[in-house]
Amino acid sequence: MQRRHRGEPEPSHTALAIRILGSGGAFRTPRPACGCRVCTEAREKGVPYARSGPGVFVHGPDLLIDTSEDIYLQLDRARLGQVYGGLYSHWHPDHTMGRRVWETLNADPRGTPPRHRRSEVYVPTGVLEDFERYGLMGHFDFLARRFIDLIPMQPEQPYAINGYTVTAIPLAMERAYAFLFEAPGPGSDSLRVLVAMDETRGWRPPPAVRGVHLAVIPVGIFEFDPFTGERRMPPDHPLLREEATFDETLSLVAELRARRTVLTHIEEPDQLGYDDLRRLERQEVLRTLPATFAFDGCVVDAAGTATTGA
Ligand SMILES: [Zn+2]
Ligand SMILES: [Zn+2]
Repeated sequence: MQRRHRGEPEPSHTALAIRILGSGGAFRTPRPACGCRVCTEAREKGVPYARSGPGVFVHGPDLLIDTSEDIYLQLDRARLGQVYGGLYSHWHPDHTMGRRVWETLNADPRGTPPRHRRSEVYVPTGVLEDFERYGLMGHFDFLARRFIDLIPMQPEQPYAINGYTVTAIPLAMERAYAFLFEAPGPGSDSLRVLVAMDETRGWRPPPAVRGVHLAVIPVGIFEFDPFTGERRMPPDHPLLREEATFDETLSLVAELRARRTVLTHIEEPDQLGYDDLRRLERQEVLRTLPATFAFDGCVVDAAGTATTGA
């Protein structure tokens, strides 16, 4: 069942077009009260220089992946005609703090009696355990009483969601998951898209996700200046034990062999502005992979190579 929401529906996209609602990471750009070069430019020029919290919308199944604090602004800006439901990749606050959006989307606060809508929200079982452990479950239980159907997802099991097949793929870190989307259609010709929102450190992609039409993965942190090669972080920095680096990400992109890869979850502390990343995209290593950088509002069509937006 489609759940239509008020607002101007925008023209429909080809099956499995991926909309980057927010291309930022745990630290959005501009970061409040920060006067650095990258934040100042983002504040003056807006998108695509500004990057909001991690968020993806998958056209076709019409699913949200994760809900950062910026989800309200992102959904409104995207002028989506419908949101069918959602998926959660892991419990981290930068991916879950906007979860009350399910109430905002579905509540009927003035109806007598209220006729709330419900969205299907799929959560891998490991993420549900973390919701319990880190104190998010009370609020999700509240949402599940009125506004969502909270559906546990077994990893590596395909689920039919709104006419598409969606599989949660375990990553190596912290009970985090990527999602594989497959468009209906027989044989190996079906359209396949992989979206990993975060936490790709140490992950070796299984054969099932290699060679997809489109992969969206986090860019990693910049241990070295990508232009000069100069070291930016000491080798024993604790973040390097938790996060994939940009170099590790490039190896992952090569291993995935997607026809096209879009790099997102771009962190303000890495101090790379939109123009810097455009310059980096022109370097041979990125052109040959091929990989490009996401920006807020960009839409990537899995069936082709078109990028539109902003
Ligand atoms: Zn994150
Ligand atoms: Zn800043």
